[in-house]
Amino acid sequence: MAQADIVLIGLAVMGQNLILTMKDHGFVVCAFNRTVSKVDDFLANEAKGTKVVGAQSLKEMVSKLKKPQRIILLVKAGQAVDYFIKKLIPLLDIGDIIIDGGNSEYRDTTRRCQDLKAKGILFVGSGVSGGEEGAWYGSLLTPGGNKEVWPHIKTIFQGVAAKGAGHFVKMAHNRIEYGDMQLICEAYHLMKDVLGMAQDKMAQAFEDWNKTELDSFLIEITANILKFQGADGKHLLPKIRDSAGQKGMGKWTTISALEYGIPVTLIGEAVFARCLSSLKDGRIQASKKLKGPQKFQFDGDKKSFLEDIQNVPLLCVFLGKIKDAFDRNPEPQNLLLDDFLSQLTGVQAGIPMPCFVTALSFYDKYRHEMLPANLIQAQRDSFGAHTYELLAKPGQFIHTNWTGHG
Ligand code: NAP
Repeated sequence: MAQADIVLIGLAVMGQNLILTMKDHGFVVCAFNRTVSKVDDFLANEAKGTKVVGAQSLKEMVSKLKKPQRIILLVKAGQAVDYFIKKLIPLLDIGDIIIDGGNSEYRDTTRRCQDLKAKGILFVGSGVSGGEEGAWYGSLLTPGGNKEVWPHIKTIFQGVAAKGAGHFVKMAHNRIEYGDMQLICEAYHLMKDVLGMAQDKMAQAFEDWNKTELDSFLIEITANILKFQGADGKHLLPKIRDSAGQKGMGKWTTISALEYGIPVTLIGEAVFARCLSSLKDGRIQASKKLKGPQKFQFDGDKKSFLEDIQNVPLLCVFLGKIKDAFDRNPEPQNLLLDDFLSQLTGVQAGIPMPCFVTALSFYDKYRHEMLPANLIQAQRDSFGAHTYELLAKPGQFIHTNWTGHG
């Protein structure tokens, strides 16, 4: 009997929690998973005694769904999504709806949307942000795709989350997080190896930051991570392999940024920092051969250096506010990072800080009315006759024979 309001396929952490959240909002959800035994486990444990139902096959699953059929996929991004779409097509009717809630590449979403539209099936790609807890307590949902879907999913989506704007927004959201995370890692590196701070002291510093404008989920979890001790009473963090993973979103964002000409240098650096971290074996070999500065002894004012470190993520978080401040007053007094720049302590100490340096460089580039890009324009005109504009004559593109005489 058709009884379920919606189906959710994918019983990993996100899917399970989203089902339970939808259930809490009064919807009857049918659960399905590639490995069908996980459906039974879920019904017997997490969803025990609730109105959640399950299915042993896709055919049984659709037979339990009310019309129009609404199916959320929360499976691994990529092949798994196409796998289920292919299997679902023969089982669905015109006007039925597939929602991909995973971290799919937005171009895949566009392709799937178009392919399914041609078959009369409506498709939406919706980021589900907030991780495991978000799926449980309420996520940031960013649906985008076939607009006809909205009336059919509005109650459910508005019930469990706020609205947003699709996989592109989710991608950008995740990658801003990439930049923030890398900045925090570099702050940690500086605290550890330049200031020689013990882990509890670093945790305290992040907790203090969390009481300032830097108050954020990432700062909060960093303090918790730094404090965390294993069963042996020792901190866990130093034991974790310093090789960061990624699922491809950073790459897509950087490619999109290049395509659209948007200078998201911080995110690009954060992506490359992760790539470099994953070259662990090579780095181990290089660390034995490549020379850096001698053991660095910081003899400055530790408190003020710590404040300088704090200012860099602050700079990033509040770029918009900084611009406003500059618009109001060309010389605001509250962002004096010159000390940090002039000391360049991290550089002297041989600490890699791609995002710190990029954030500061971006800031410095942004605050310069005149950058040396005039030379690039001249070079391009010189070797390729690409023409250039004079400051005094905007919009007029001219070419010069640079080897001749003016
Ligand atoms: P996940 O580990 O990304 O995916 C596991 C689910 O995908 C399982 O149901 C698994 O089925 C299925 N699956 C994997 N490969 C498959 C294939 N080739 N064919 C069919 N099914 C396949 O799970 P998750 O962490 O809950 O994330 C789900 C989605 O939400 C992902 O796109 C993820 O990027 C996104 N997301 C995750 C988080 C998070 O904090 N975890 C936050 C936001 C968004 P089996 O059980 O049969 O293996």
